[in-house]
Amino acid sequence: MSTNFPNLLKPLDLGFTTLKNRVLMGSMHTGLEEVKNGYVRMASYFEARAKGGVGLIVTGGISPNFRGWVAPFSSKLTSNRIAKKHKLITDAVHKYDSKICMQILHSGRYGYHPFNVSASNIKSPISKFKTKSLSERGIQSTINDFVRCSKLAKYAGYDGVEIMGSEGYLINQFIAKRTNKRNDKWGGEYINRIKFPLEIVKRIRLEVGKEFIIIFRLSMLDLVEGGSSWDEVVQLAKELEKAGVNLINTGIGWHESRIPTIATMVPRAAFSWVTKRMMGEVSVPLITTNRINTPEIAEKILSNGHADMVSMARPFLADPEFINKAIANKSNEINTCIACNQACLDHAFKGKIASCLVNPLACHETEIIVNNTKTPKRIVVVGAGPAGLSYATTAAKRGHNVTLIEKSNSIGGQFNMAKKIPGKEEFYETLRYFDVMLQKHNVQIHLNTTFEPAMAKKYDNVILATGIIPRKPKIIGIDHPKVVSYIDVLNNKVKIGSKVALIGAGGIGFDVAEYLSHKGESSSLKTKLFMEEWGVDMNFTARGGIQKVKPKPLETKRQIYLLQRKSGKVGASLGKTTGWIHRFSLRNKDVKMINSVKYNKIDDKGLNYFKNNKEFILDVDHIVICAGQLSNNKIFDSCKEQNPNTEIIGGAFHASELDAKKAIDQAVRSAAKV
Ligand code: FAD
Ligand code: NAP
Ligand code: SF4
Repeated sequence: MSTNFPNLLKPLDLGFTTLKNRVLMGSMHTGLEEVKNGYVRMASYFEARAKGGVGLIVTGGISPNFRGWVAPFSSKLTSNRIAKKHKLITDAVHKYDSKICMQILHSGRYGYHPFNVSASNIKSPISKFKTKSLSERGIQSTINDFVRCSKLAKYAGYDGVEIMGSEGYLINQFIAKRTNKRNDKWGGEYINRIKFPLEIVKRIRLEVGKEFIIIFRLSMLDLVEGGSSWDEVVQLAKELEKAGVNLINTGIGWHESRIPTIATMVPRAAFSWVTKRMMGEVSVPLITTNRINTPEIAEKILSNGHADMVSMARPFLADPEFINKAIANKSNEINTCIACNQACLDHAFKGKIASCLVNPLACHETEIIVNNTKTPKRIVVVGAGPAGLSYATTAAKRGHNVTLIEKSNSIGGQFNMAKKIPGKEEFYETLRYFDVMLQKHNVQIHLNTTFEPAMAKKYDNVILATGIIPRKPKIIGIDHPKVVSYIDVLNNKVKIGSKVALIGAGGIGFDVAEYLSHKGESSSLKTKLFMEEWGVDMNFTARGGIQKVKPKPLETKRQIYLLQRKSGKVGASLGKTTGWIHRFSLRNKDVKMINSVKYNKIDDKGLNYFKNNKEFILDVDHIVICAGQLSNNKIFDSCKEQNPNTEIIGGAFHASELDAKKAIDQAVRSAAKV
């Protein structure tokens, strides 16, 4: 079969070994590393990705010693005893023609524990723990620990290691002037600051021999003040090549950087220009990364000569079969990562096991089993939002006879509103995926049909996924013509004036503020616009790509006020890894965020409220209600009377704090059992 992805699927010869395609599954800390039975679960997780066709996998970061821990007792590789456990993983991956490297990650001052160390005593802005500068002896023993860790990885059956030299971790802390203020031979001039990574690589190569992959993750664009200049990055790449690395992977941005690098509003492949600049400077293959989530994008990067290989991480949580589907020219069947971070990074940062919003099986492969049913049933699913779609497609895939009834004229439920928000264009992909899956698994779809309880008798099982109804707060004047619901706004049912107050500052309040403030193109679709908006110098004349570069906020369309009753930070409920981006972006558009509000009344003058016992009137044209939601469960009891096998899921089951992650997870788990 001819392939649509000739460059992506082309083997890469590393001399002593060949990778079967140009795709690396990038390193992700999943939390499985630290749980009971974690190695068995990791083996299953990695095996599914190897079976799915990826050429090279890199594990989550493993520390070479306890000081390098990301958090207390996080995973380290320091003994044969631990290495033996890793064999479960390497054996599982090697059942297929895939290769796997172990990432060695020393967190340095990012370590969330009191034993962390760094190049100098400069506390990290994102850890509450102080840090201690390594002594000369400490440096030597850390290098020894990297070497020991590599030898143990080899013993465990890994095909190689990836040395984590980017994202602001220890090695990066030695390289950058920002964090390395030493005046011994490991500090001062650049040539001294890069001794630490070079010693690590040289010593590892010496000990592991030639036939063992060494990847170096090089911070090519630090995105922090005091980061490296482009010439310095090139110098280090050349020295790394001499020191014996086989592949150089691209690192973009330190964790403390204030530039979004992987969230959904970052344009696809937004940073491949950085790797492209390095092409030709060294002869080892270069890997590019960040916001690459479809085989089409990956193929384009390679065919345009931006890199020799691409790294994708989260797309393999979303769909372990990504590569096999690309090989079969069925990319429309790929469950696309929408870069929401909600179940992966947000979980990792909260110490929870990572998974995926669109694929709850990720990292739960031993727990949620979707197998063929021996007793097919006639199932009706009511409501084609994320919950109904997930249930219907999962049950139908298992062999059940599924009918999906939706009262509106399209599938998607609230995702049809989410996808309209500038920066959330990826949500279209989830709906495309479900559409393809409904057809593939022969789900009978009835749009423009309202389900009535009397219809429940016709089926063996009834699944109500009827979603939510927006909450209407009890405020005097709530029925005033100035008051509209977020649904009317996002469905373009009303023409909104130039001054607007939003009641409620949860996920939807923020999204509506983004929608209403937006003017012109979405910067998520234009790399150049995005870089200007956030102040990244694509000519790379600025240190770290940002030093002294002024961000250029996008133009705004309206004066917006975003209000909440709680006294805490406005937007505190947003995702851990994305909330700051939303707050930053709206502040740049001069959206006024007001907390501790006591709503008084709405009338012709606008919105009247109290704050700290003082009265305020917002003279606005419209007041948009984004005050949370209630379950739309009114037909449940009567359906249950008609058919005792009636189940209720998603927002219809529980609306408070219900998001798509919870809705899909509940639906898939339930459909896996029916
Ligand atoms: P819904 O999506 O509400 O779907 C219910 C469906 O049932 C609807 O299509 C409705 O027409 C249909 N229906 C109702 N009654 C009947 C009936 N009697 N007969 C037939 N059909 C019926 N969540 C996130 O996790 N991340 C986000 O970034 C995010 N962004 C959002 C942005 C916006 C603007 C909005 C509005 C929501 C967002 N959400 C987000 C929330 C997320 O979309 C919801 O949590 C999710 O859609 C709930 O899924 P559901 O299937 O339970 O309900
Ligand atoms: P939400 O996040 O629960 O926010 C509801 C807001 O309404 C809060 O700010 C709340 O703040 C306010 N509120 C609640 N009751 C009120 C009342 N009686 N009167 C006035 N204000 C009231 O819900 P949502 O914004 O509707 O979002 C629904 C779901 O979709 C959530 O689970 C959310 O996580 C998810 N979502 C997620 C994203 C994302 O980017 N991850 C985006 C959109 C939606 P006060 O009580 O302080 O006033
Ligand atoms: Fe991608 Fe969101 Fe899944 Fe993470 S949770 S892998 S960002 S779709």
